This record gives sequence, structure tokens and C-alpha cells, in this order.
Amino acid sequence: MTLLYEHDDIRDAVIRLCQNFPDDYWRTLDRSRAYPADFVRALTDAGFLGALIPEAYGGSGLQISAAAAILEEIHRQGGNAAACHAQMYTMGTLLRHGSEEQKRRYLPHIASGELRLQAFGVTEPTSGSDTGSLGTTARREGDHYVVNGQKLWTSRAEHSDLMILLCRTTPRDQVRKKTDGLSVLLADMRHALDRGLTIRPIRTMMNHATTELFFDNLEVPVENLIGEEGQGFRYILSGMNAERILIAAECIGDAKWFIERASRYAGERIVFGRPIGQNQGIQFPIAQAYARMRAAELMLHEAMNRYEAGDNPGAEANMAKMLAAEASWEAAEACVQTHGGFGFAEEFDIERKFRETRLYQVAPISTNLILSYLAEHVLGMPRSY
Ligand SMILES: Cc1cc2nc3c(=O)[nH]c(=O)nc-3n(C[C@H](O)[C@H](O)[C@H](O)COP(=O)(O)OP(=O)(O)OC[C@H]3O[C@@H](n4cnc5c(N)ncnc54)[C@H](O)[C@@H]3O)c2cc1C
Repeated sequence: MTLLYEHDDIRDAVIRLCQNFPDDYWRTLDRSRAYPADFVRALTDAGFLGALIPEAYGGSGLQISAAAAILEEIHRQGGNAAACHAQMYTMGTLLRHGSEEQKRRYLPHIASGELRLQAFGVTEPTSGSDTGSLGTTARREGDHYVVNGQKLWTSRAEHSDLMILLCRTTPRDQVRKKTDGLSVLLADMRHALDRGLTIRPIRTMMNHATTELFFDNLEVPVENLIGEEGQGFRYILSGMNAERILIAAECIGDAKWFIERASRYAGERIVFGRPIGQNQGIQFPIAQAYARMRAAELMLHEAMNRYEAGDNPGAEANMAKMLAAEASWEAAEACVQTHGGFGFAEEFDIERKFRETRLYQVAPISTNLILSYLAEHVLGMPRSY
């Protein structure tokens, strides 16, 4: 049976593209924590990053499952889409809540890759997962907002022209709920650098162009407010399902890469005169990881089916992301163990992928927050925070 979400043609095209960016390309960049500019340019030129932008605004107008197939395949081929995946979905806030004028002004240029909207400034050092407590403010003065505060973990900020920025526009003590009074601004980073915006890279355990941002009286024109003032938290939430689904697809791709590498090596490596894969102690963790990956993949398909049917699959998208992140980590463990000492050698790329895939149990949302969402919103238990 051919399922809609397989998208074989798209996968074949991504595989062909990825063949130009083999393991040593990623390994070399990883060593110096360099941005995969050539890879991102190739993906952009092929139109993959505009997959979710409607045709009326210059994109391909594809469904979420097509975008998921693109990202899964990049990860399955040994690459890492984190350098640019947000170019696919960050524009969703603008698409769903921006004015027609804003959409016409920006989306065609984002679709062509001429403008990069792949920075998403939500997390802050003190508020963390408690987004409603964020401290960055945007104060209206005439025809612009004046932004002050700090963001942490704003990935790709150095490689982005625009940023979706969540700020407090009404003081906390003047709103009923802490998630009220937040607004989304589309900040033009090209004009902001040295005019109130400072970007500092953060070196992390994997190659992930992430940064911290400091705002010191940065001016953003009022015309760059997305939607209504004070409704920003809802706008950010409305994009979460797509993000969870796409990250889950990347984790499934990682899991498949680990399982394929581990199975192959288990058949090739001879110790005590026979392939190590003949031992059930080697087979079982890989088979177990495969079963868990397939189960997570089914949940991902459920989330995508509902999303494409127009539902709001918050539970399925979150579960897919959580289960897929756990499955990729289990597969990573099995792959390292199967490779013995070679699992730690740079040239095998396993240690690199191992570091990369660990992120997804923490970002873009950590497992505990997903569990508490399920406990409260699906199972009806009391709110814990
Ligand atoms: C490499 C990287 C890239 C990122 N990119 C971006 C980005 O582009 N834009 C952006 O806005 N953010 C980004 N993030 C931030 C990411 O979304 C957060 O790190 C993540 O949501 C967790 O928030 P925190 O780090 O503040 O952890 P905290 O909120 O401090 O939580 C720490 C731990 O405590 C747990 N915890 C907290 N509260 C509870 C509770 N009530 N019950 C149970 N457990 C709890 C959490 O689950 C977590 O395990 C990125 C992070 C990383 C590491």
C-alpha cells in the first residue's frame, strides 16, 4: 500500500541532493562549529525550504507530511537539518496571523530564500519553559516599539534576516493571565545589528549555530507587529504542532540512520570468528530500537493525518515528538554499543549524530513539559505549574 505521507519522489530528490554532502562534509563542519552554508543554499535552490509556503506567495504549497519527508530524509542520510529547518516553519506565524500586506511583502522573498526567517526568539535565561514569565519588553513610542531585554538559545540568529520575537507589551500586573499581554514582532535583523541588538554565539556540544541576544532600546516599526497586540502567546502556540511534527520526523530519520549503521556493522564486524550480529546480545537492542522507532513513526503519521485533515492534534504532535526523540536516543545508544570503541571515533560519525540527536529530548520542548501537557489536557489531572 502506498501511503500519502511516503512522498517517494520528494525523498528521492532529497537523497540525491544529500549525496553531494557526505559524512565528511558534516564532520569537517562539526569540528569547527561552522554553518553548513553550501548545504542550506542547495536546499534553498531546490525549493525544499519553501515547501510549506502557499503557491500564491511563491512557495510549493505542500502538506506537512511532505515537509516531514524532506527533513526525515536529510537526517536519515547522516545530515542535520537544524541549520535551516526553521526556515520552513517559522513563517507559519506570519502566514496565519500576519496581514495580507505583510504576507505579500515577506513570504515570496522567504520562499525564494532571498530573505531568511529562521530565528525564533522566545526562550529567555530566567523564564525558561515558563514562557508567560518572559521579561523582554516592547514599549510603544509613536510609530515604533522600543525593545529591551535578553533572549537565550536563539538559534540561527547570525544566519537570519528576520526574527519572530515574542515580547511583553502590557506589564504583567495589568493583565489577567501571564500569557496575556505578549506580542509577536517581526524584527528585521539586518537593520538591528549595532542599533540595539547584540548577538553572541553560544558554543554547544553539537554544531548548532545557537546564540544569545541582547536588546538595548532596539526600535521595531509598529507595522511589524504580527496580528493583534497582546495576543502573541496564542500565535506562537498555534505553530507548535507543525514544529513538533517536523522535529519528530528528524528524530525518525536519525533513528533510521543509527539502526541502519548498527545493523550493517553487526553483520560485518568479526570477533571470536563470527559476526558480532550473530549474538543476540547485539541483535536485541537494535531490534528493540527498530520496534520503538516504528511505533513512534506511527504516532507521527497519526499526528500528520490529523493535521492535514485540519484538526488541532496537540496531543498527537507532542507524543510523536516525545516518542521519536526517545526512539532516536535509544537507537543512538544501540549504535554506539554495537560499534564498541569505533562508536567513539570521529570518522565513524556515530558520536556526532549521538550528540546531535540528544537535543530533541530538551528542545524545542522538554519531555517533562510534554508529559505534564498530556496529564493535564488529555488525562484531566490538576495543573502542576
Ligand atoms: C541547542 C538549543 C537550541 C534552541 N533553540 C531555540 C530557539 O531557536 N528559540 C527559542 O526560543 N528557544 C530555543 N531553545 C530553547 C529550548 O526551547 C529550551 O531549552 C527548552 O524549552 C527548555 O527550557 P530551559 O532550557 O529554559 O529549561 P528549564 O525550563 O529551565 O527546565 C529545566 C528542566 O526542568 C524541567 N522542568 C521545568 N519546569 C518543570 C515542571 N513544572 N515540571 C517538571 N519538570 C520541569 C524541564 O523539563 C527541564 O528538563 C534551544 C535550546 C537549545 C539547547
